[in-house]
Amino acid sequence: TVVVTGATGHLGRLVVEDLLAHGTPPEQILATGRRTEALEQLAARGVRTATVDYARPETLAPAFEGADTVLLVSGSEVGQRVAQHGNVIEAAKAAGVRRVVYTSATEADTSALILAPEHKATEELLAASGLVTVVLRNGWYTENYVAAAQQAAQTGELVASVGEGRVASASRIDYAQGASAVLRTEEHDGAVLELAGDTSWDHHELAAAITEVTGTPVTYRPVSPEEHRAGLLAAGLDEGTAGFLVALDGNIRDGLLAGTGGALSTLLGRPTTPLVDGLRAALVEA
Ligand code: NDP
Repeated sequence: TVVVTGATGHLGRLVVEDLLAHGTPPEQILATGRRTEALEQLAARGVRTATVDYARPETLAPAFEGADTVLLVSGSEVGQRVAQHGNVIEAAKAAGVRRVVYTSATEADTSALILAPEHKATEELLAASGLVTVVLRNGWYTENYVAAAQQAAQTGELVASVGEGRVASASRIDYAQGASAVLRTEEHDGAVLELAGDTSWDHHELAAAITEVTGTPVTYRPVSPEEHRAGLLAAGLDEGTAGFLVALDGNIRDGLLAGTGGALSTLLGRPTTPLVDGLRAALVEA
């Protein structure tokens, strides 16, 4: 059995669908999450389901019993993730799981990316666990720009403090199919894979992509971090969220999400989804 965590979310669900598409028998997949009502469609296709909460170890032990592999999709509660992921790793060990595949972040062990420390700490727990591991250091999702694109299409302006920083984004489906490819073989066991889009783009190119997809002319207006923060606060965001977003833009300005490398397209056996195509698909879904 392969246990897919986060299957109630976007990435995990796409992983399960790709496993099914490649012939993994549904009864060999256990799709998990907290909001198990989101698993009904998968259950109807014969996939097994279970409620799993990283914060509640008593939900982990029964789910992992008899499993070969656990795909640990990093949680979404920033600040609590190291303890939560630690629970998952401990439970996997205790249940005799052979392999844990983890969705990490770009160059998590050395990056100044504000999201990196929790991923780094999780990678360290994995390395110390004695389990077979595969670390998928996922780069930025193109889908991260849906809200910005919608807003820019209304105002004609894409406002950010990323300067001329480049982003090698790929679509969520690319990362999901990459994870599925890793899960379906033992070829990558022990590997740390830096996964990102084949091509990086800057915010002028993002504005052009938004223009192309929405039909509304959009231009990029670079602002300073201070101006960016003030704008976010004026739009009603709290200090913490505004600070987080400004810091992320600073990380992008510093090129921390610009690396390409080609490992994702190699896994996929096809190019990653280009920005315009990924944005178009994401805006249709939104
Ligand atoms: P989603 O928000 O769609 O899904 C997150 C999933 O994580 C959900 O299934 C959620 O389950 C599950 N989850 C969160 N906390 C817990 C918990 N305590 N116990 C059990 N399950 C939990 O995100 P995506 O699918 O788009 O992305 C997957 C992960 O990738 C994110 O969780 C985040 O760590 C990271 N990410 C990466 C980005 C990037 O650009 N590389 C961008 C955004 C996120 P449930 O809903 O049932 O509670």
